[in-house]
Amino acid sequence: MSNRVEIFDTTLRDGEQSPGASMDVREKVQMAIQLDRLGVDIIEAGFPIASNQEFEGVQKVAEAVEHARVAALARALNKDIERAAAALAKAKNPVLHTFLATSKIHMEHKLRMTPEQVLQAVDTAVRLAKTLVPRVEFSAEDSTRSELVFLAEVAQTAIAAGADVINLPDTVGYTTPGEIRAMFEYVIKHAKGSEGAIFSSHNHNDLGLAVANALAAVLGGARQIECTVNGIGERAGNTSLEEVVMAMHTRQDQYPFVCQVRTEEIVPSSEALSRITGLAVPYNKPVVGRNAFAHESGIHQHGMIANSKTYEIMSPESVGRKRSDLVLGKHSGRAGLAKRSEELGYALPEDQLVQLYERFIALADKKKEVFDDDLRMLITSINNESFETYHLQRVNTSGGDLPIAAVQMIRGDATYEEAATGDGPVDAAIKAIEAITGVSGTLEEFRIRAVTPGKEALGEAHITVHIQGRSITGSDASTDIIEAAAKAYVNAINKYLAGQTMPDQNQG
Ligand SMILES: [Zn+2]
Repeated sequence: MSNRVEIFDTTLRDGEQSPGASMDVREKVQMAIQLDRLGVDIIEAGFPIASNQEFEGVQKVAEAVEHARVAALARALNKDIERAAAALAKAKNPVLHTFLATSKIHMEHKLRMTPEQVLQAVDTAVRLAKTLVPRVEFSAEDSTRSELVFLAEVAQTAIAAGADVINLPDTVGYTTPGEIRAMFEYVIKHAKGSEGAIFSSHNHNDLGLAVANALAAVLGGARQIECTVNGIGERAGNTSLEEVVMAMHTRQDQYPFVCQVRTEEIVPSSEALSRITGLAVPYNKPVVGRNAFAHESGIHQHGMIANSKTYEIMSPESVGRKRSDLVLGKHSGRAGLAKRSEELGYALPEDQLVQLYERFIALADKKKEVFDDDLRMLITSINNESFETYHLQRVNTSGGDLPIAAVQMIRGDATYEEAATGDGPVDAAIKAIEAITGVSGTLEEFRIRAVTPGKEALGEAHITVHIQGRSITGSDASTDIIEAAAKAYVNAINKYLAGQTMPDQNQG
């Protein structure tokens, strides 16, 4: 058996499904480009039947990704499979991922199907998928609570129907390392044709065992791990990509496997996701947390100075932590700026590069040193503007007992002005924005943080707004935090307005 373990990233599908992590099409494409740089083998981009926006997300990711295979999810239903195949039409290396539950509880209560009907449906679905897309993955949902004999039969049926990859997920985060290893060993031994298929492990972290279970699955014969950046995903999340990759990397003596992830892109990927979704990474998160490499105690610091290996099992450089320290100054020039943007994963068209340069010079005037994160925020702002209906031109606020905000906005050729009072300057600005746009929502979450050090630092605002039954995130940055918040609010309204022209199909 080969010792190559493929990394199947599902940040944009399973991860994106989790509360607070939703991404629109542009954000998915941005993240997909970073995942491609990270060197994952497969990027699962979405669930095309779920909505038109999901469909378009998969399509656009498939067009943008150069190296990785791109996967789309489909239930074991003809209409799902056909829709997923259509979304993947432009992918260089498409993977159609179809699934059906195999545990007694799911078959009886959710599917209302007998085991024989499930076997028949697996056969039909995989055969159809295989006629549409060259590579097919089949997932036996809730594998870890399925009967082993039946599970092996399901795997055998899917392989006989043409499945290239068999995924045995721990859908509910229930299994343990010993149990999952035995499950893989059993199914691989008993399913006919298993030597021609790749077995895959997809785990949830409800008991904090997802990474340990994935590694145990590999010891049991799995050669694909499904995971997400920062471990985001349904409920307690999925197997965390950075943890499972660095565990194999650091403990080659225990896990003598190779994967082609570029570990020095791990921290940039974690930061990109956190910036796009607004989901903060806990300080103590392994590998990517802010404190993951901080040594506070005196004894540890003494040891670290003598030899970093005394307390450090991996280096911050190996996961790309040092890289974001690169600083640009006013004299870096346009070519330097373009080169750095490209290194950060943004290939900007000429007109956007001109805009970026103007803003970069204005910011460099204010704060002298411009960090990578500053640059990323400037690019986010430009990206936001590329699809906006309303543009926030100016916001002036005055505090005191009755905070007032005066807002000027542009839509097409028209300019609008409105003033409002509120509980604070941000609230006042939001009320004025709502008066102009006619869109009102409830603020569910509002966070602001400094992107980089310094007095004239850029403040980054992340908000979640509930508009007409939908939760929409918005983000933007400015050296003025009230302006950052107002721009983030306008970003959410623009996303809402863009979404209105793309009605969802609501097919489940
Ligand atoms: Zn899952």
